[in-house]
Amino acid sequence: MSANKDRLALIEHLSSIGGEHSDDLRETLDRVALAIATGMEAEVCSLYLFDPQRERIVLRATVGLDRESVGKVSMRLSEGLVGLVLEKDEPVCVPDAISHPRYKYFPETGEERFHTFLGVPVHDGRKKPLGVLVAQTLERRKFSKNEILLLNTAANQVAQILSHFRLRQSLATKEQERLEYKRRMIEANRQLKDYEKVGGKTRHAPPAKIRRPRLAGLSASPGFAQGSAHVVGTFLSSVDRHQKSRDPKAEAKRFEEALARSLAELATLRVRMEPLMPESDLKIFDGHRMILEDEEFIGRIRETIANGYTAESALFRVIEELSASMLAVADNYLRERATDFRDVGHRVLRHLRQEEKRAPFSKPTIIVAEELTLSQLTMVSHDKLAGIALQSGGVTSHAAILARAFEIPTVVGVEHLMESVVEGDQLVLDGNAGVVYVNPGSEIERDYVSLSRRYEAFKRELIEEGNAPTATRDGHRVMMLANIALLADIHLALRYGAEGVGLLRSEFSFLTYEDFPDETQQLALYSKMLEALGKRPVTIRTLDIGADKYPPYMRVPREDNPFLGWRSIRISLEMSGLFKVQLRAILRAAAKHDVRIMFPMISSLEELRRAKELLAESQAELFKEGLEHNPNIEVGIMVEVPSAVWLAPRLAREVDFFSVGTNDLIQYLLAADRNNPKVAHLYEALHPAVISAIAEVVNVARAADKEVCLCGEMASDPLATLLLVGMGLDELSLSPLFIPVVRKVIREVDYQTARLIARETLQMASVQEIKGYLVERYRDLGLINLVEMYR
Ligand code: PEP
Ligand code: MG
Repeated sequence: MSANKDRLALIEHLSSIGGEHSDDLRETLDRVALAIATGMEAEVCSLYLFDPQRERIVLRATVGLDRESVGKVSMRLSEGLVGLVLEKDEPVCVPDAISHPRYKYFPETGEERFHTFLGVPVHDGRKKPLGVLVAQTLERRKFSKNEILLLNTAANQVAQILSHFRLRQSLATKEQERLEYKRRMIEANRQLKDYEKVGGKTRHAPPAKIRRPRLAGLSASPGFAQGSAHVVGTFLSSVDRHQKSRDPKAEAKRFEEALARSLAELATLRVRMEPLMPESDLKIFDGHRMILEDEEFIGRIRETIANGYTAESALFRVIEELSASMLAVADNYLRERATDFRDVGHRVLRHLRQEEKRAPFSKPTIIVAEELTLSQLTMVSHDKLAGIALQSGGVTSHAAILARAFEIPTVVGVEHLMESVVEGDQLVLDGNAGVVYVNPGSEIERDYVSLSRRYEAFKRELIEEGNAPTATRDGHRVMMLANIALLADIHLALRYGAEGVGLLRSEFSFLTYEDFPDETQQLALYSKMLEALGKRPVTIRTLDIGADKYPPYMRVPREDNPFLGWRSIRISLEMSGLFKVQLRAILRAAAKHDVRIMFPMISSLEELRRAKELLAESQAELFKEGLEHNPNIEVGIMVEVPSAVWLAPRLAREVDFFSVGTNDLIQYLLAADRNNPKVAHLYEALHPAVISAIAEVVNVARAADKEVCLCGEMASDPLATLLLVGMGLDELSLSPLFIPVVRKVIREVDYQTARLIARETLQMASVQEIKGYLVERYRDLGLINLVEMYR
């Protein structure tokens, strides 16, 4: 009991030393040694650390031995009792050390007076030995089991302190590297500008090693933009957390006023955004309001103000504490809550600083930010806002959704963005390809101006052409359908003339809820989407979660191979209750609209049959409950697993249509992860095996008189268009942005030409051969420019 108490007291003491995060390792280790010596009632406590480069164990801290010997005394692994501890990798306890055969005397330590030696190994988290912790006493005695345990526990604490210290050091090094990278970028840009100023009239060669920074990200909202960078900082961090006030009452009043203004602003914003965002996304405003009405949160800020801090400082301190504890938990939901708290903090801070209205930008501007919260985006003036580039954030982040709704070209997930861009830099942003150029120089700027003009002309041309059905020159029809995920995508689909939706990725809406949406919520969501699409046919794909798409509220075990794991239809069939909720909602929404249902990732007939069984059960239930629904809904599957290609003739008998999902099919056929840049060169749509698989599925579907569509990204690649059409694909479903170019390619040729291209391509054996051939054919047909614009 008392040993336990001692242990606890020592651990607590050591944790508090570790928790101070001092930058002075030597001083920290000395304090650790003193705490252990005191806690163990030993005259000596020393820490020896293993230096792998020198292969020696070095004395790094001590209480009791001569401090001058620290850093100087060292031994090989095969030397001394300390070496023996590491060699045996277990505690070594010797009551009379001097007479032990492994005893090695170091005169500089003055250790001859100490008789008993107890050493325990110090390991890192992966059980790799880091060093040895030693206690020594003047009197000859045996250390008890409890004392050995105590020193072992202390050794674990020491390992933690060392690992935290190393982590901090490596972060500091990374920060150094980041600053160095930024410095080099700025210097390179400066040199580049100087070089361009002289416009080639100089006799100097272009400065060496200049890289025109081209930063790759993800396209979140299409279009091109050019303008000067406005870097939006995380301005909460600009607050001085220690700032005290002289008049807490006045601070409290300022805070209450800012709070009231923030609440009023949220209410107005909600109303303003209502037509642009689905109900689920609008909830974010309610969530923020709830934070501002949370007694505990607001109470803590009021209390901190009463304790003498300024309103800004109090706000910052409370948010910092809350988000630190939320971020410490490996839980997506809490992490996102931390973002919400910071977002709310920005809003209140802005009102405290009376920065409600930002001056509109005077010239075309591209906002650059680490992340852009909803409040920051709704705050900036949209006049002259040409584009948005974000370092973090996904395509489905709220900022991306809103950017699409406002049609602001946006690129997200841009690596190194914040290091590479400074205020006022000239940027070119390509929202189609997901690329940002920093001070690219006149050549690229010119290219982009012309690309942007062509792009705009293209869009105009499309509008002028109207929504005439897409067909080859000789009248062969191809349905152009859109892939959509969220309500905000629909207006793009309509704008670019989609004839319907070939793939509604229903899981994306699920990611924006706080829990699985119930039947009523789903029915409302699907109905809203279907209404926006009018009479156009829509294929709703049932939940395709898992792998890289998990709703934050869903707990899933970590998997070694998530793409080969518990995902998609496998989850739906196992969580059949949830699945039926979705099926019922789709069936009900289909009562008044032209809707087909599609199951993702089908790999066997059993899966298809079970899914259809659950669909039939849902229909029967709705019928019994007298709820209006579509009893004859068409059912199809995604063909995206190789087994489904092999089973296609049998699957075709039990479905109404196929939709080839090349995104997954390619990765499974070629064993190349679709998200891994290291194998990106192997992930190839124009691979002969992929093309043969598609041809096989199309042939089977046509022989069985079933419809077949292709809805992977391959459908957006104009270079693949003629091949796909020639193979007999009469429906393509693609990102709306690419509809104009693919449509244009189709309209420029005869069906026979496409057939010939497909026939010849199917004979080829390598990617290189196929690509070379297609490029040549497109050149002959005068279509190569179109392809280059989008690739
Ligand atoms: C596909 O795999 O091709 C597909 C369209 O589905 P997703 O990209 O959603 O997996
Ligand atoms: Mg897929």
